Amino acid sequence: MKKSKIEDLAGLLKQKGMYVTKQRLHVLKLLVNARGTHMSADEIYRELVKKGVKISRPSVFNIVRAFQEHGVIDEIEIAGVKRFDAVTDGHPHFICTRCGEIYDLPTDTIVINYDMIPHKVEKQEIKLKGICQKCLEKKKT
Ligand SMILES: [Zn+2]
Ligand SMILES: [Zn+2]
Repeated sequence: MKKSKIEDLAGLLKQKGMYVTKQRLHVLKLLVNARGTHMSADEIYRELVKKGVKISRPSVFNIVRAFQEHGVIDEIEIAGVKRFDAVTDGHPHFICTRCGEIYDLPTDTIVINYDMIPHKVEKQEIKLKGICQKCLEKKKT
């Protein structure tokens, strides 16, 4: 999804079988506009408060959980913290073990041969770890 119009976001919620509420739209808009940042529920809460949105911390937690259950957003757990991703195409993530930055990788970076898996795969969650380009460059200088 490109930069979001509020109607598109409401449409997305409806399409996923969810009621549209003002608070849900605030959370979704933030996540969609900040895609690639993989915010935790706490970070989402703080960001919304900063923007002057009236919302409670438990509401934010409930909303992101509901979004995730309905497939509106994806969840990735990194170092014990649940982070949320508005891009739900199953793209792999690269996590830098030095600076902790989370990078999106193109979906076709890794091709899984589903024919070799006898099980029913419901979710693709791929995490790669290492040292990111930025940290590698820092080391050189
Ligand atoms: Zn790094
Ligand atoms: Zn991502």
